[in-house]
Amino acid sequence: MSEKMEDNVLIVKYGEIAVRGNNRKFFIERLLRTIRKNLDDIGDFYVVKEQGRLIVEDRGGELDFDKVIPRILCIMGIIGVSPGVRVRNQELDNLKKVCAEHIRSIGADKYKTFKIETKRSNKSYPLESREVSAAVGEYILDEFPDFTVDVHNPELTVYIELRNDAYVYSELIKGLGGLPVGSSGKGIVMLSGGIDSPVSAFMMAKRGVEVEGVYFNSPPYTSERAKQKVVDLAERLTMFTGGFKLYVVPFTDLQLYLLENVPHDKLTIFLKRAMTRVACILGERDGALAVITGDSVGQVASQTMQGLHAISAAATMPILRPLAGFDKQEIVDIARKIGTFDISVRPYEDCCTIFVAKHPETKPKTSVIEKIESKLTELDRYINEAVENAEIIEL
Ligand code: ATP
Ligand code: MG
Repeated sequence: MSEKMEDNVLIVKYGEIAVRGNNRKFFIERLLRTIRKNLDDIGDFYVVKEQGRLIVEDRGGELDFDKVIPRILCIMGIIGVSPGVRVRNQELDNLKKVCAEHIRSIGADKYKTFKIETKRSNKSYPLESREVSAAVGEYILDEFPDFTVDVHNPELTVYIELRNDAYVYSELIKGLGGLPVGSSGKGIVMLSGGIDSPVSAFMMAKRGVEVEGVYFNSPPYTSERAKQKVVDLAERLTMFTGGFKLYVVPFTDLQLYLLENVPHDKLTIFLKRAMTRVACILGERDGALAVITGDSVGQVASQTMQGLHAISAAATMPILRPLAGFDKQEIVDIARKIGTFDISVRPYEDCCTIFVAKHPETKPKTSVIEKIESKLTELDRYINEAVENAEIIEL
C-alpha cells in the first residue's frame, strides 16, 4: 500500500438524534458542505462520512488542528471534535502501537490513571470490544510503568473506534451543539447592521432554524457602507449556518411617505410596522414560518411592551424575539463570541436624523396606531413596491 498507514485526522461528531428521520441524509450532506466551505480558504482537505462520524483530513501535509478546529466547532448541530489518528491496519498489534504513540504525543506525564474504551461498529472484527480494550490496556501498562488502570474515573480515556478504518483519540472538544440548520423550518430575520439582530439570527439558527434576512436600506439617508456592514454580518453568519439569503429592500420612498403622513412622535412605530409587513411577505414567499428581530424589552423607546405590541399587530406570522429578556451586556458578550460585534460597531456615516423623533411615543396604543394607518391610502402600494424591488444577495 502506498498510502501512509496512519494519518492525523479530526473526528467530527454530530447530534445523532437531531439528524434522525427522513432528512438525515440531507442534514449530513449539509454539515459536510458547511465544513468544506469553512475550511476552503485555509488549505486543501478531504471531508468524508464514516459511519456516524465526519472525518477531516489534510490532502497534503499534516493536519493543523489549531487552525481547523475553530472553523468546525461553530457549526450548528456539531457536538464536538476529537483530534485523533486514523488507522488502516486494524490488527491488534498495530492498534497497541498506535495507542502508545498517541499517548506519547499528547504527553504521557500528564496522567497517572487511564482506561481504554473500544467501540466496534465493524462487526466482522475478530475480537470483541472488551477484548481489544483489555489487550491494548495491558500493552499500555507495559509501555508506561507509571500508569494504572482506573475504569471508573480515569484521568485519561483512550478511545478506539473500529469502523471501516479504526480511529484512536482521547479528547472531545465541545462544539456549540444546537440543532442542524434547517431541521426546524425557516425564519426571516430583520437584520439591521446593529449589534442585536445578528445575535438573534444566531440564536435561532442554533435551534435549527434556517435563517434568511432582510435589510431595509434608505439611500441617500443611509450609506453604502451601512449596507456593506449588513452584507458582512450575513457573510459572518454563514460560518454557523452554511449559507444565507439576504434581501435588501429599498425603503426610502416608503419612509418619506410615512414621515409626511403620520405624527412624528409615532413614526418609528409605523416604520417598524411597515418593515414587519414587508418581512412577512418576503418570508411567506420563501416558506418562512416566523419573523425574527433583535428587540430587547425596554432597550429603546420602540421596544417597550406597548411598542412591541403595536408593531407585532402588523405581522401575519409569529415574531420571534430571542433577545427579549437579555441585557445589553449579555447580547454584547454573545456578539463578541460569534464574531459579529466588530462588524456591528464599525463606524459609518448615516444621516437619518430626520426620521428620529426627539420625544418618541413610548406607550403607543395599538388601536390608535391602526386607526391612523387605515387612513394611509398609499401605504399598500409603497409596501408592494418595496417588496417587488428587493435585491437578493445569496451568501
Ligand atoms: P439592532 O442592534 O439589531 O440594530 P437596535 O437595538 O438598534 O437593534 P432598533 O433599531 O429599535 O433596535 O430595531 C429593533 C429591531 O428591528 C432590530 O433588532 C432589527 O431586527 C429590526 N430593524 C431595525 N432597523 C432595521 C433595518 N434597517 N433593517 C432591518 N431590520 C431592522
Ligand atoms: Mg439598530
